[in-house]
Amino acid sequence: MTTYSHSKLGTFQQCKYKYKLQYIDKIKSDLESIEIFMGKRVHEALEKLYNDLKFQKLNTKEELLQFFEKIWDENWHDKVFIVKDEYTAKNYKEMSKKFIADYYDHYKPFNHRTVIAIETQDRMNLSEGYQYHIRIDHLACDKEGNYYVCDYKTNNLLKAQEELDEDHQLAMYSLWVKQKYPDAKSVKLVWYFLAFDKEMISERNDEQLKELKKQIEKLIKEIEACNNFPTNVSSLCDYCQYKPICPAWKHKFEVEESKKEFSEDYGGKLVDEFSKLQETKKHAEEKIEEIKEDLIKFAKQKEIDVVFGTDKRCSVKEYDKIIFPDDKKEELLKLIKDKGIYDEFSSLNYFKLSPKVLKKEVDEDIISLTDREKAYRLSLSKRRD
Ligand code: SF4
Repeated sequence: MTTYSHSKLGTFQQCKYKYKLQYIDKIKSDLESIEIFMGKRVHEALEKLYNDLKFQKLNTKEELLQFFEKIWDENWHDKVFIVKDEYTAKNYKEMSKKFIADYYDHYKPFNHRTVIAIETQDRMNLSEGYQYHIRIDHLACDKEGNYYVCDYKTNNLLKAQEELDEDHQLAMYSLWVKQKYPDAKSVKLVWYFLAFDKEMISERNDEQLKELKKQIEKLIKEIEACNNFPTNVSSLCDYCQYKPICPAWKHKFEVEESKKEFSEDYGGKLVDEFSKLQETKKHAEEKIEEIKEDLIKFAKQKEIDVVFGTDKRCSVKEYDKIIFPDDKKEELLKLIKDKGIYDEFSSLNYFKLSPKVLKKEVDEDIISLTDREKAYRLSLSKRRD
């Protein structure tokens, strides 16, 4: 029985290649971004706070911060990487301590709600035997029978209310809460934005949850049917643990490790030359257009239609070029069909058909009339690193 989680689905939507490495090939990577490392430690510290409270032990703020320091140091490893290199690990550690201290001061003595569970580990059944992993940071209820699905956010991004009202993760968890605790009068979705010492709340009605469940099940079906896992380069690559082995970045890592300049590497040389030639070609094409214009002007002035050079001659012939205005396209198409001459002038749009065949979005008998061969598309773009 396959289980999907919010992060598993999110990874598929972010980059199918990363999804394949992580969830299909199950490739382990020691690399961990400091944001992930920091998030884990902050969650562990808050988990301890609430677990101890169950046993009537209230940690002082200092005790909690000491615990945080201890788990930070114990878990620290040399594969933790920092993308924002103007900051050090110490900056992140101090920032995390501030998050915890602010949270502590805000919610002490932590009794405004009854805590039901911390870091839940459960599964919710979806259609066709799939399951959804329920991992709630903090689940609580109040005396009025309202439940609170709470999530600690450690990033420096305060989301807008509209984004939270569209969020899938806590909404899916609320579906589980409604099933598990039918007494729930309401299920509130709560985000603690620790960097801003701010709590934000949203809620979903049953209709919205039913629709969301359908969307999630549809996405799962898409994943199950997927057999093509391309890379998707974005700014999120900087935080990806697979970057050094990803085909979109591997060459860069290899050259950097070899301590060579890119201009000394064979692949680097090819790209540099390709890029130079493309530039030359672009300039040449622009120049050709200019010369054509000048030749036309020259021929007109001289009232000639052939201009002679050293080895070649160039004929300059005026002709009537037919224009088909876009706004008359439909009318023209209808007329051509009505007059029974459509077959004579229409041609198959292979450009549009190819992606449909690739995605198997056309009938099998159409696909059976096509062949496949490997082809390559090369495109140059500015390096983003
Ligand atoms: S580095 Fe980027 S493109 Fe490569 S697997 Fe990771 S997210 Fe995908």
